[in-house]
Amino acid sequence: MTTIELVLGDITRQSVDAIVNAANSSLLGGGGVDGAIHRRGGPAILEECRKLRASRYGKGLPTGQAVATTAGDLDARWVIHTVGPVYQGSGGDPALLASCYRESLRVADTIGARTVAFPAISTGVYGWPMEDAARIAVETVRATETEVEEVRFVLFDERAYALFAAQLR
Ligand code: ADP
Repeated sequence: MTTIELVLGDITRQSVDAIVNAANSSLLGGGGVDGAIHRRGGPAILEECRKLRASRYGKGLPTGQAVATTAGDLDARWVIHTVGPVYQGSGGDPALLASCYRESLRVADTIGARTVAFPAISTGVYGWPMEDAARIAVETVRATETEVEEVRFVLFDERAYALFAAQLR
């Protein structure tokens, strides 16, 4: 059984086995969650990301997929990087957003992570409406078979927190 917890706060301050990064496909850093994780986690994370670009992910990490690295100085053992889909005027592909959560949990199982913190993937620079993103996040985690015991959604503001809380009711 996976329990779902909600926290209002900064994902880089969480003590968990794995912190999920809303990365971009370059794996070489960006703004939002990505920038915060690399800032607080230190250079070890970027170093491992560069190695991934030089080997398995020469063209970058495809949207909807996930890969783990060290968590550097964060209070976690791993960062799981996943690339959310961009939401444009007409929308985005919800299957790809669901895939981010499912693939991150699959990677968590591979490395043995039992507690995993997720941000609201794609709801920042990538523009996905929070209410819809919250529904997809909660539905996908509930529908995914995993050894992960706790999924913690870490929401950055009260509105996001309220919209995730509504999905849990
Ligand atoms: P994306 O590129 O997938 O849209 P962003 O990092 O731009 O990812 O934003 C994803 C969500 O994470 C947004 O709702 C944003 O407000 C939130 N966010 C930004 N920084 C943090 C943080 N330090 N901890 C938790 N959530 C954050």
